[in-house]
Amino acid sequence: MKIICIGRNYTEHIAELENERPDHPVVFMKPDTAILLKKNPFIIPEFTQDVHHEVEILVKINRIGKHIDRKFAHKYFDQIGLGIDFTARDVQSQVKAKGLPWEKAKAFDGSAVIGKWFDKKNYEDLNNVNFRLQKNDNVVQNGNTSLMLWKIDEIIEYVSKYFTLKIGDIIFTGTPAGVGPVAPNDRLVGFLEQDLAFDIKVK
Ligand code: ZN
Repeated sequence: MKIICIGRNYTEHIAELENERPDHPVVFMKPDTAILLKKNPFIIPEFTQDVHHEVEILVKINRIGKHIDRKFAHKYFDQIGLGIDFTARDVQSQVKAKGLPWEKAKAFDGSAVIGKWFDKKNYEDLNNVNFRLQKNDNVVQNGNTSLMLWKIDEIIEYVSKYFTLKIGDIIFTGTPAGVGPVAPNDRLVGFLEQDLAFDIKVK
């Protein structure tokens, strides 16, 4: 399986990192080795001094597809979830400045937190789903899918122009504002509406 990630999908997050608003979705990938195994803590890698949490809505692909029209994109997933795209911000700043790829900053082991999956039928409107991340019981990121520049169906259309989507592939749909550093002993808890999606410790 592969993990396809969208960057710069929420206006306020683009502003906080002083990025340009893109004309097309920013796309990158994480390998399957990036997945943080269930119940494991997130261990801050030794190569970074500034790892940020990015809480994101996830989509799990349930059938194979290529060149999927946005009108039919809803047929390619039954479940959504919530996860974290851990980012070594210091490493990302270095590679970004040189125009180099982002993998060292975003695709390292443990950088993909994948929480519980929920039936999409639980949500009346997938373009109006609330989610949040709490760090040590304080809400640090608060989002709603209505604020996405590219909605889930448009993301599926766009990425499937380039990559065949296969059963079990996961899409990270981008982070809202409020990204910030994590430190040893932090606890990160994510909620999709009122449902607990993940609860992890940082070491
Ligand atoms: Zn992200």
